[in-house]
Amino acid sequence: MGKKTTHKFKAEVSQLLDILVHSLYTNKEIFLRELVSNASDALEKVRFMTTAEGGQDDTPLEIRIEADKDARTITITDTGVGMTRDELMKNIGTIAHSGTAELTRMAQEGKAPLDALIGRFGVGFYSVYMVADEVEVTTRSIEPDAAPVAWTSDGKNDYKLQDIDDATGENGGESMARGTRIVVRLKEDLASQFTNTAHLKSVIKKHSNFINFPILVDGERV
Ligand code: ADP
Ligand code: MG
Repeated sequence: MGKKTTHKFKAEVSQLLDILVHSLYTNKEIFLRELVSNASDALEKVRFMTTAEGGQDDTPLEIRIEADKDARTITITDTGVGMTRDELMKNIGTIAHSGTAELTRMAQEGKAPLDALIGRFGVGFYSVYMVADEVEVTTRSIEPDAAPVAWTSDGKNDYKLQDIDDATGENGGESMARGTRIVVRLKEDLASQFTNTAHLKSVIKKHSNFINFPILVDGERV
């Protein structure tokens, strides 16, 4: 396992996280829509690449969601393009989308409901901190020879990065395939709601009905 390094969130990201964490009246379930939408975008990129290159891989293009009541977690796994270490750093935490500051201002002024703003400004990933007190992203890029990397954060000031030595299968005992796995550790008061399979399925049906890839909740196709 590589050395763990700590990286500060960009100021705009920290501000946004602060708002999301303290959002009391927002429809919190939309975090799932945002994570599924990112998974779908990543799968779409694989589909495009493999079509362009004549299809050289038989990994199924799908999104799996698993709940663990005891661990208080939801895990969202996709077999999409994944991210290299550099991409991971840039995409989550370092570079704020141009709309981030604008969203923060509008939310503070109460101009529009936060869930509508999140969809509109493309800052979807961070919405997970409305429900999570810790998030772990493990990802492996489709690029040849890319090694898996793990990102963890409590969404406060910084995130940690760690390279994973794939050869030893140091990733929960299995070696990481192409794609991204996001482990969401739920806040205590939301855990029973969001580890309920029936509830998860209904949230997926409601907000992610038009996703073009199979979505499996605890192994069952939604
Ligand atoms: P947006 O989807 O509008 O770009 P997000 O905050 O939802 O904004 O995601 C930020 C970026 O992080 C994405 O553009 C993508 O590059 C990367 N990303 C997030 N989730 C995944 C994933 N599951 N697989 C690959 N890349 C991802
Ligand atoms: Mg997104």
